[in-house]
Amino acid sequence: MADQIQVTLPDGSQKPAPKGIQVGEFVRDHIGPGLAKAAVFARLNGTDVDLTRPITEDVKLEVLTTKAPEALEVIRHDAAHVVASVVQRLFPGTQVTIGPAIEDGFYYDFSRETAFTPDDLEKIEAAANEEIAKNLPFVREEVSAEKALELFEGLGEKFKVEIIHDIVARGAKTLTLYRHGDWVDFCLGPHSPGTGRIGVIKITHASGAYWRGDHRNPMLQRVYGTAFFDKKALAAHLAQQEEAKKRDHRRLGKELDLFHFHPFAPGAAFWTPKGTAVYQTLSTWMRRLTTQDGYQEIKTPLLFNKGLWEISGHWGKYKENMFLVLDSETEEHDFSLKPMNCPSHHLFYGFKKHSYRDLPLRLHTQDVLHRNEASGSLGGLTRVRQFAQDDAHIYCTDDQVAGEVRRFVKLLDRVYNALGLTYSAKFSTRPEKRIGDDALWDRAEAALESVLKSLEVPYEIKAGEGAFYGPKIDFDVSDSIGRKWQLGTMQYDPNAAIRFDLSYIGEDNSEHKPVVLHRAIFGSFERFIAILIEHFAGAFPAWLAPVQAVIITIADRQNDYARTVHERLRGKGYRVEFDERGMSMNAKVREAQIQKVPYTLIVGDQEVEQGGVSPRRYGGENLKFMSLEDLERLMDKECALP
Ligand SMILES: [Zn+2]
Ligand SMILES: [Zn+2]
Repeated sequence: MADQIQVTLPDGSQKPAPKGIQVGEFVRDHIGPGLAKAAVFARLNGTDVDLTRPITEDVKLEVLTTKAPEALEVIRHDAAHVVASVVQRLFPGTQVTIGPAIEDGFYYDFSRETAFTPDDLEKIEAAANEEIAKNLPFVREEVSAEKALELFEGLGEKFKVEIIHDIVARGAKTLTLYRHGDWVDFCLGPHSPGTGRIGVIKITHASGAYWRGDHRNPMLQRVYGTAFFDKKALAAHLAQQEEAKKRDHRRLGKELDLFHFHPFAPGAAFWTPKGTAVYQTLSTWMRRLTTQDGYQEIKTPLLFNKGLWEISGHWGKYKENMFLVLDSETEEHDFSLKPMNCPSHHLFYGFKKHSYRDLPLRLHTQDVLHRNEASGSLGGLTRVRQFAQDDAHIYCTDDQVAGEVRRFVKLLDRVYNALGLTYSAKFSTRPEKRIGDDALWDRAEAALESVLKSLEVPYEIKAGEGAFYGPKIDFDVSDSIGRKWQLGTMQYDPNAAIRFDLSYIGEDNSEHKPVVLHRAIFGSFERFIAILIEHFAGAFPAWLAPVQAVIITIADRQNDYARTVHERLRGKGYRVEFDERGMSMNAKVREAQIQKVPYTLIVGDQEVEQGGVSPRRYGGENLKFMSLEDLERLMDKECALP
């Protein structure tokens, strides 16, 4: 029947429907009113569309409900439209520019003389939430570029007019307008069915921002906000933000005396003795784990001639991100500090002829790396220019890939578990532009995905987001306050062996190319430590704590004994301090709590007499008197690397 179309649902089932039916109607009539109520937008053959879009041909349909993270992005962009509309009503003469959804919310940039006051922001928030109650539908309309120009010129919106000219210059003939109430904007969409879908809008703050991010352009007034499907989710988000502020690693880094920065070395940390203890403990732990897992550690040079970067391709594509170094002999900036270890590992592989018996070869390196991040983007330990990674490259045969990926995921699982971090994976598959034949991609993708399935790692597929040479898995961890961080990675790379002419002699006595697997678990030590500081709120587990125990005497007459305890524990390798300052015992105990030291060891006359200490755990739990032998047994257990 010519007036019927077939709609294929994600489970593979097909449903016929009248041609021209709107997505929302189809969902209501052919799937169910429950889903129709929860729907926010849809994907037709992979393209995001509004629920009002008519279905005119056979399609694959996916419905995105309030549960989908992408749906939250859509209502945040809805909210940006709503905020812009109320700002133009409340502050006549204000011009609009753009308003995208961003991580955790949205912003809208306005052109007006004066900045918004806190009072203004309150008014905007109240008015925006009133628009939600009206449930105004978002109405999409396709118009010619000329008509759009006419419309926005008529409204006197010169920034919008400028954007339309740009879009036209790039070849667009039509634009899509979105109206709600009497307000209109143009964008690609999608939008939700109406303002009622936005549960609640919260305006968070305002700041200045240059038009198109260029400081030669006029300064605009940016209003930041966020939106959620319901008030409960907003409250949880605000509580999380509040908690995150308290745990901010830059603040705790100062309070716990872990690291410093100096303007003479932007983006490179000075690690204090305490910070260094944390850094080195993680480094030693990872060395032990990788050694036990069959890796070999190597060190490679920090400075390389551009010849290496020409082979690796970095000289052409990545040069601005590298620190170039002047070679006084050639008077050229021919050298660069390495921004990653991979190319040097490939050179290292090439030093020897390899046979299949050498594989898999697992090379681990924790060398210092430099990347020339823009100075404006630097902040704390999360965006730095100098860092180290728990980096490794596995050289193996095609047949070994699945086994190696499996081994890696098990190691990663052990590390994250030991730290109380839960995780999920993102599996990125072949992009449009790629090298290698489809059979190779089929094998590589199957190898990676089979491991995620068999180890029951929760994962989502990022279709088309793999590198041009191979698929990859990225791991997101969730910290103790529910924030997600992308950390571990496993990348399949058959291209390195081609670029670097790497080979091995197979069982068949002929030459083959090894596959390279790039993998990391911490990622950068610097960023990982920042995440751990915030995850633990500075209260590290005993094995990782910069100071594991502090000894405090009740009176000075116990100091001699306390000194012998201090030396004994330090001699056993524990990170112990003896607080000999002339303060009251209570003040010292409080200080140890502020410093979040796992054990406070109290020494009074009784402890001296009986040859022990009375330990108190961080958080207040008093353990009974303990002989030094028992204390050592306890610390042996709790301070051992997991
Ligand atoms: Zn829009
Ligand atoms: Zn690599």
